[in-house]
Amino acid sequence: MKIKFLGTAAAEGWPAIFCSCDACNKARMLKGKNIRTRSSCLIDDYYMVDFGADTYMNSLRYGIDLSKLKSVFVTHSHSDHFIPYDFELRYGSYAYIEDRKPLMIYGNQSVKKLFEDTFKGNDLDGSVVFNEIEPYKTYRVDHLDLTPHLADHMPDEKCFVYVIQSGKKTLLYGHDSGYYPEETWKNFPKYKFDAVILDCTLGPTDMDLGPDEVWHGHMGINTDEKVKKRLIKMGSANENTKFIVTHFSHNGKLLYDELKDFVSKYGFIVAYDGMEIEI
Ligand SMILES: [Zn+2]
Ligand SMILES: [Zn+2]
Ligand SMILES: [Zn+2]
Repeated sequence: MKIKFLGTAAAEGWPAIFCSCDACNKARMLKGKNIRTRSSCLIDDYYMVDFGADTYMNSLRYGIDLSKLKSVFVTHSHSDHFIPYDFELRYGSYAYIEDRKPLMIYGNQSVKKLFEDTFKGNDLDGSVVFNEIEPYKTYRVDHLDLTPHLADHMPDEKCFVYVIQSGKKTLLYGHDSGYYPEETWKNFPKYKFDAVILDCTLGPTDMDLGPDEVWHGHMGINTDEKVKKRLIKMGSANENTKFIVTHFSHNGKLLYDELKDFVSKYGFIVAYDGMEIEI
């Protein structure tokens, strides 16, 4: 399975769109891996997790032909993960697509409502099709098996983290979420993860949590470490599992190199825009 990180920031981006804090000013000056757009990943070239406001620009940055995109797996309705307006540009004279196959979107009820409210009865000539999916059910999407699991992110929405399987390879796409709900933990023992992508919105700012305390809504390095330990203890991960942290906020303050140093003792890979991983 090929995983390409298109964006690795939280909602505001880093540098944050309207911010002039020290962390944002440093990122503007240093550039490179410190420039982070809104989080999303490309899986096996034709499948995307989340479709935020930076998707078009990232397709130009990384030479991705979005006419070939087959499916989008949406985690939840926050604007850094789902901007429906661009899908209007896939129908009629906006887009000439070789096979005319519809682009499939998978997501929860709230994402579906947002999609439908945006287009108000316009079916976009069937060029984009929304599939509402339920947690803990497995959906076959071409060569992939997609299983949404409940996240701990918003009380009024069933936000998803995804288990994505391709052949013998298994990925946990694990943000946006705080420490996972017990219902989700109960479903993990059946998997052996080759890679785990974790929420690191808080960066090092949750380090003062005690051994039994966890953060809700998002994670930082302390909570990431607790998730890693539990996955290894239960046998769903081992020393070969790649643990990758992403979805960074400027409030975490540490720039790429500083963060890389900080997490080295935990064995985390710090994601950056454009990073590719093969599992
Ligand atoms: Zn987010
Ligand atoms: Zn800032
Ligand atoms: Zn969110």
